[in-house]
Amino acid sequence: MHKVRLESVRRKSGGRIHLTPRVPQAGPVTTLCGQTLADSSYAAVSDDPDCTNCIRRSNDPARISGAFFAQEEGSELLRLSLEQAQSRKPNLRVISGHGAEREKPVVWPAAKPPPEVVPDRVGELVTRGFKPSGEGVWRSPQGVIVKMRKHLRPRSDGKDWRFAELVFEGSVVATRIEAGIRIRAGDVEVNPTDDGVEVQLKKK
Ligand SMILES: [Zn+2]
Repeated sequence: MHKVRLESVRRKSGGRIHLTPRVPQAGPVTTLCGQTLADSSYAAVSDDPDCTNCIRRSNDPARISGAFFAQEEGSELLRLSLEQAQSRKPNLRVISGHGAEREKPVVWPAAKPPPEVVPDRVGELVTRGFKPSGEGVWRSPQGVIVKMRKHLRPRSDGKDWRFAELVFEGSVVATRIEAGIRIRAGDVEVNPTDDGVEVQLKKK
């Protein structure tokens, strides 16, 4: 599997060495194990990590994708998704049988569904058909990656999660309509609403 470059970070006060996609020059940093270290309370280190949660999650592409998104590394995520798409191409074959070489494609195991129940709607995203792929990151059947960002203050209408970004390597059409701009990327549609947008799988 492709190994993503991660950086080691530690609190200046000591403790475990954690992993993060990138140690920023300033501002808070979020570790793979989900801790947020406040501005100037941490330092990048060259030592190997010793936080067991960070080490375990460094082998989980979805976690890493989410962490990259959290750090505004959208381009890095796109690169990862392209590499994943390439590695999914059926260029691996199992040769079985004697003499007559019968080829059959490798059957990849399906991704395990998350244990938690996915709600019908997460803020501006209608989740039907989407697969969660890390904190605030969703993937459509055609591989469109949708990033949602949580509002800091809870909203009275419950739409805490707002559409932030969409990444797709295929066809994208943006159409001017009365209420604003509609974006169709692969099997995903982003429609303007009165106070924001609605993201959902294209209606058949
Ligand atoms: Zn950690």
